[in-house]
This record gives sequence, C-alpha cells and structure tokens, in this order.
Amino acid sequence: MFENDLKEFGIQLSDLQKFQFMQYYELLVEWNSFMNLTAITDFDEVMKKHFIDSLSIVKAFDYMNENFDGKSVFSLNDAKCKVIDIGTGAGFPGIPLKIAFPDIKVTLLDSLQKRVKFLDEVIGKLGLSGIDTLHGRAEDYAKPDKLNEDKTLREKYDLCVSRAVANLSTLSELCLPFVKKDGLFISYKSEKLTDELKEAGKAVSMLGGKIEGQVYFELPDSDINRNLLIIRKVKSTPAKFPRKAGLPAKEPIK
Ligand code: SAM
Repeated sequence: MFENDLKEFGIQLSDLQKFQFMQYYELLVEWNSFMNLTAITDFDEVMKKHFIDSLSIVKAFDYMNENFDGKSVFSLNDAKCKVIDIGTGAGFPGIPLKIAFPDIKVTLLDSLQKRVKFLDEVIGKLGLSGIDTLHGRAEDYAKPDKLNEDKTLREKYDLCVSRAVANLSTLSELCLPFVKKDGLFISYKSEKLTDELKEAGKAVSMLGGKIEGQVYFELPDSDINRNLLIIRKVKSTPAKFPRKAGLPAKEPIK
C-alpha cells in the first residue's frame, strides 16, 4: 500500500530507503510508549497519515512546475536545497522528506527538548547525514540579533515547511523569516483556506511573502484531505519580525 501510494507521487524507494522508513516506524512506536510523540501508532495509519502525508509535498512542486514553468527555482533532488521544518515534533514532515530525498539538507526545529532527543536518536539509528536538529523557539532562531550574521538562520533556507503548528498568521511569522528571497514556505493545511487566508493576508505580505497557490487533494486511497499552501518570499522580512517568543501566537498580526 505504502509503495503504491508513493507511485502516485512519482517516488520510488531503494531497499535502504524502505528499511529506513521501517526503522523510523519502529522507533516512533517504541519511544511513544514512554513519551508523547503521536496519537497514531497503527502501522497503516502511520504510513498514510504521517509518511505519505509528509511526502505529498511533491504535489506542490508539480503544481509550480505546471503553472510557473519551472519558476519553483529548486527541486527536492537538488543537493543545494536547504529545508527547515518548523515545529517538527516527531519529525513530520522533515524526516520522511530526508529519507525520500536524501540529497537535500534538512534542519528540524522544535521547542520541546525530549522530542529533539528522539529526533537525534532516529537520525543516528537510520544513519542519515545532511540533517540536523535544533532545540528552541522559531522566533529566537530567526531573529537577526540572536547570533552573529554568519550564524543566524534568518533568510538561509530555500524551503520552509510546517505541519499542524499554528494558524496561518502566526505560522507566517514563525516561518517566513527563515526563507531566502525567492524561496518558498509551504504550509500543510487540511481544508480549503478562505477565512484563515483572509485573516492572514496582511501578515503574509508584511513578512515578505506572496501567496502563489493552494493544492487541494485527498491522500491516495483515503478520504483524508490535504491542502498545501504555497507562499513565495518576494522581499526580505522587516527586522522587527519575528517579535519576541510567544507573541506571534498570542497576538497574531492582523
Ligand atoms: N509537525 C509535527 C506533525 O505534524 O506531526 C508536530 C506537530 S505538533 C502538534 C506541534 C509542534 O510544534 C510541537 O512539537 C511543538 O513543540 C512545536 N512548536 C510549537 N510552537 C513552536 C515554536 N514557536 N517554535 C518551535 N517549535 C514550536
């Protein structure tokens, strides 16, 4: 089932990659028995709702290639492509992306230390390279003054992804500061966005983003909806964003 679903996305896995997904599943279930990582542990459900869902981002790239004539700038097979996953939790979507597209460089960021410990264990056991973890708040890592200019993560990524972390206004403030000009922020939403999009429109443009499109579909052989919202970074994020940790969620830009 897993492999058939992947065919729909044009992804074919090697034996090593299949093995890595199985190892990841086993570690997820094992660690979930003593820490809160996921409510989903059934094998088929994890394959569909975590792994397939994470990889469904290829549909956003297909959409861009069809509608913008290759303007998507980079591909998930490009070793120069730097990706950050904000609020990655147990590693979604960042780890499935790294397994399926091993050339990309991935940073997994989460504010919960114990989840980051789990991610480090997964990376070590699966033997993944070109992937690192960060513990802390997105707001702190994206500040221009958090670290010196060589080290700040502000505007250093081609692609920022995030699933199930916050409403779009808050999320834009957490994510867009990490994205390079012309790069992308792709948010995994579940419904067609109308009200949320209206509410977040001002935040997206203040933070330097422009909505490029939405790709709405059902995950293969399921009734699970996914909506990938594609936001292009068209200008630099003003230095005053992100505001101090907690404020983007407490007082979203309106
Ligand atoms: N993305 C994962 C998924 O789809 O399964 C996890 C989603 S979980 C509901 C939200 C995660 O975002 C939590 O692990 C939480 O610690 C993290 N988080 C929330 N706000 C954050 C922030 N400001 N900076 C970093 N991580 C944050």
